[in-house]
Amino acid sequence: MRYEGMVYRPPSEAGSLIIQATVGCPHNRCTFCSMYRQSRFRLRSVDEIKEDLAMARDYYGDSVRTIFLADGNTIVMKTDHLVEILRCIRQLFPAVERITSYGSARFITKKKPADWVALREAGLSRIHSGMESGDDEVLRLQNKGVDAQGIVRAGQMIKDAGIELSEYIIVGAGGKTLSEQHAQNSARVLNRINPDFIRLRTLMPAQGTPLYDMFKKGDFKLLSPHEALAETRLFIEHLEGISSTLYSDHISNYWNVSGKFPGDKEAMLKQIDHALSLDEKQFRDPLQVRL
Ligand code: SF4
Repeated sequence: MRYEGMVYRPPSEAGSLIIQATVGCPHNRCTFCSMYRQSRFRLRSVDEIKEDLAMARDYYGDSVRTIFLADGNTIVMKTDHLVEILRCIRQLFPAVERITSYGSARFITKKKPADWVALREAGLSRIHSGMESGDDEVLRLQNKGVDAQGIVRAGQMIKDAGIELSEYIIVGAGGKTLSEQHAQNSARVLNRINPDFIRLRTLMPAQGTPLYDMFKKGDFKLLSPHEALAETRLFIEHLEGISSTLYSDHISNYWNVSGKFPGDKEAMLKQIDHALSLDEKQFRDPLQVRL
């Protein structure tokens, strides 16, 4: 398969066929993100993408069940181009069950509700969205390019179109100073969206990012394992009226808390209380960075 740059995909897409529809990220300015810093963003042509799909069909036959369209924010493509790609996928892989892509709120809201309905009808089944926080101060610190209101609007647009939504939250994104408001406001935003999935990642500063420089200078203080767990507890406590499934499917997390709301909420809080009763030395070094 042809691929330019590093492959990034959600852990839940480990078994998926990955087709590169865009190279890099059209935003590429989040202060914590190192993923596409070396890439200059560009859209690949629909013809090139269709060629890749045909190659994959020749290689895998029709055994493919899930497909992830990479890289960051592939949804920035014109809707009719994406629809053409989705139709090509359905034609070449008639047994495909799930087609997904990354999409952050800033770019989701650039499309109209009717575009999202057209994309769902063409076969787009799930958006993986890095909202990271629902707190405006944290979002500004991250230079996410969107505020909490924009995240709610984007999330509701995806859900209203009948597309599954996986929202990613970064535990510790506000450091020690903004921890409480990050937890509470992230929960408030998610309560208004009711995404299908909420996925937790714990902040590990990545070398070469502005946030890493702040951390090295002492201007950004990482949470200790117990502080990160307490933040997660506060976040879960404030999640109400939703039917989302929460996962901690990432190596950065201190504890694998998971469950479905509303029934598993109390059990999830108990899981965290147990983790909080353990000696902090048992957890990974909080100062560990991503290379
Ligand atoms: S976090 Fe997402 S939107 Fe932000 S720079 Fe990285 S890939 Fe782009």
